[in-house]
Parts: sequence; C-alpha cells; structure tokens
Amino acid sequence: MQLVFATNNLNKLKEVQALIPKHITLLSLKDINCLDDIPETENTIKGNALLKAKYVKEHYGYDCFADDTGLEIEALDGAPGVYSARYAGAQCNAEDNMNKLINELADKDNKKAQFKTVIALLLNGNQICFTGICKGQITSVKQGDKGFGYDPIFKPNHYDITFAEMDLELKNNIGHRGKAVSQLVDYLNS
Ligand code: IMP
Repeated sequence: MQLVFATNNLNKLKEVQALIPKHITLLSLKDINCLDDIPETENTIKGNALLKAKYVKEHYGYDCFADDTGLEIEALDGAPGVYSARYAGAQCNAEDNMNKLINELADKDNKKAQFKTVIALLLNGNQICFTGICKGQITSVKQGDKGFGYDPIFKPNHYDITFAEMDLELKNNIGHRGKAVSQLVDYLNS
C-alpha cells in the first residue's frame, strides 16, 4: 500500500516513517512532484491538517494524510497554538520563535505547555482525524540539538530532558506526533 504524507518537513517524515508498518510505503510531497506552497489558512490545527490533506487529494488525486502541530502555552491562553510556525513573525525561524517564547515566559511561574498534533486522513472517500497531545513544561534555556522546531525548550512531563536531548525512538514513544500516528496505524490495520 502507498500513502502520501503531505509534508516536506524531513524531520516529520523521519519521525512518522519510523512508526509506519513496513507494508505501507510513505510518499512525501516531493515524491509526487508537488512543490506547491500548500495554504495553511485555517484558524485551528485540525482545520489546517484537513486543508493540507484536501489540497493534495484535489490537486494530485492521491489518498493521503497531513499533520498540523501547535504548541499551546497555558499562561498564554493556548498561544501560539495554530500560529506556532509564525510566532515571531512571518520570516522567522525556530531560533526566533524559541527566543520569543522564552522571553514571554521569563516572568511567569506557570511554564506548562502542550504539543498538539492532528493528523487528517483521506482514504477511500473517508475523512478521519487523529489527535495526539504531549504535556510538559517550557524551559528557560535551550537544551539539546536533536529534533526540530521548539524541541530544545520543551521538557515532557516525567522527564528531566528536552525533546531535543532525546533519541527519535523515545520522542516518538511519548510525543504528540507518535500518539497521533499510532492511532493512524491502528486505523490502517483495522
Ligand atoms: P507545522 O505543523 O509544520 O505547521 O508546525 C508548526 C510549528 O510547530 C513549527 O514552528 C514547527 O517547527 C513546530 N513543530 C511542529 N512539530 C514539532 C515537534 O514535534 N517538535 C517541536 N516543534 C514542532
């Protein structure tokens, strides 16, 4: 079975590929020659995941799944959430986003945060979403050089290291994306 994962993010691809059973071949957007800048204009994480999956189905005809992820900070009423990629501005990078978040939380005692991933699957005419959440804390300094995005400042509950200090396998076992993918895999196997 072949299934398109609507992403060009090699980190996400690596994480998801490690969890998908061998009989399912994952194709990235590059593999289907989709170089489009797929719009992410919805104001919810689920809305954006569905938007990306529907775009690929409509323009390229493939059954596929897409993921959208946000980092929700309790002391910031859930921000940046769906706007996590552009938190420090449209042209910003992961360093800028993390620096802004560290500054915003500098004078706050409550550093509680959660990553939320929604995977939207379009398969055989059906549309289904899977949600994975990982709760933790934002650190005051960056730690580790693995992973991507906000990983160096996110310490999942019950661990004294950040996602960026973990091996892929551990991040996948306890992380938001891993939890959503495992529901996807159960569905595909059922
Ligand atoms: P998107 O799902 O690619 O739109 O990601 C939204 C934002 O969250 C981007 O800034 C990503 O770098 C970040 N992000 C997504 N997934 C993760 C993750 O697993 N760890 C850390 N940051 C992430």
